Amino acid sequence: MKAFLTKLGTLDPVTRTRVWVTLSALLLGVFAATGSWWLIRSAPLILPTDQYGLPMIAIVFSITALCLFLRPSWVEIAQLLGFSVCALFVLLDFQSSSLQSLKDNNTMAAGMPWFPVVSVLAFLVLLPQQALWFSIFFNLIAIGLSVLTLTNATDSQVNILIQFHVANMVLMGFIAIFGRMRAQYNTVQLQANTDVLTGIQNRRSMQQHLEQTHADQLPYALIVLDVDRFKNINDHYGHAFGDIVLREMAFVLENHTRQGDQAARWGGEEFLVLVKNQSLEQTCVLAERLRKAIVEANLGGVRITASLGVAARQETENLDEVMARADAALYQAKANGRDRVSSMVMGYGL
Ligand code: GH3
Ligand code: MG
Ligand code: MG
Repeated sequence: MKAFLTKLGTLDPVTRTRVWVTLSALLLGVFAATGSWWLIRSAPLILPTDQYGLPMIAIVFSITALCLFLRPSWVEIAQLLGFSVCALFVLLDFQSSSLQSLKDNNTMAAGMPWFPVVSVLAFLVLLPQQALWFSIFFNLIAIGLSVLTLTNATDSQVNILIQFHVANMVLMGFIAIFGRMRAQYNTVQLQANTDVLTGIQNRRSMQQHLEQTHADQLPYALIVLDVDRFKNINDHYGHAFGDIVLREMAFVLENHTRQGDQAARWGGEEFLVLVKNQSLEQTCVLAERLRKAIVEANLGGVRITASLGVAARQETENLDEVMARADAALYQAKANGRDRVSSMVMGYGL
């Protein structure tokens, strides 16, 4: 469990929520499939879909939940697998149970309400456009099966089928509208969290990550990076070149940090790196690597350097105190001649 929580901590908050929701849904699915199978296992007219399908669902969901527990970053694959199994089962059930029951008894079977749930799940698991196409395809198969199964349908059977399929089409219409709204929302959210100049996350987004990481009580360290004599660079080579330097800084940070760590433009020519589950010493090694990479970037023959301040969170500290220590370390690096890494342990100089 501890390994699971540690791996979970390296993911972003949205993915973390997805992992929890997917894990809960899979376990609920195991419970529901096993329970249904147990209740109907000795019924005289049990359908093969239920007899073999329900235990298969329980097994596939259990294995998927276990894999997700071991590898939380596989959440998208787990969702797709769980969703595909559900969609296939619902379609088989629609053909073997609902249409058959409509043909024989003029009523649709108990499993019918699950049909529209597949379209809703598609919307949650797939991208909006994919979800819409999937829903159209899924419903077309169902309409095809209806036509093939009820060749000599009575008026009342046709009426039931038309109502059923039209209601599903209305649902698809809603999915298309909500899909468009979700795509717009995602774009706006991305813009709100991205720094326009460098393309990496901005201060507002980083602040959220910092607060979340601190609240999760994970060990973390901060690196504050400030470009040296940047005002001179702007004055000598122009503001446009200064902008290129800032983009290069962002590129170096993105390329040298691990997946799960966060790099952001904190403001002006200052950047912040959030390093999770690493000690002060390990973070200083990373900071030194960043410093060297910046010197080696050698943009158009111009030597660019940066100073870096490092602080690791101590258990008794709040976020502002860790930030203040990283800032103090940066100040020290500047005071000691720039182009260097300084770290500040708790209680030293503060
Ligand atoms: P130090 O080594 O002490 O950090 O000196 P410095 O010149 O880097 O620091 P100072 O704070 O005096 O100057 C920062 C400069 O960064 C001033 C400002 O014009 C420039 N700057 C801030 N944002 C941008 C930007 O988006 N693009 C460019 N080109 N320059 C920027
Ligand atoms: Mg500076
Ligand atoms: Mg500065």
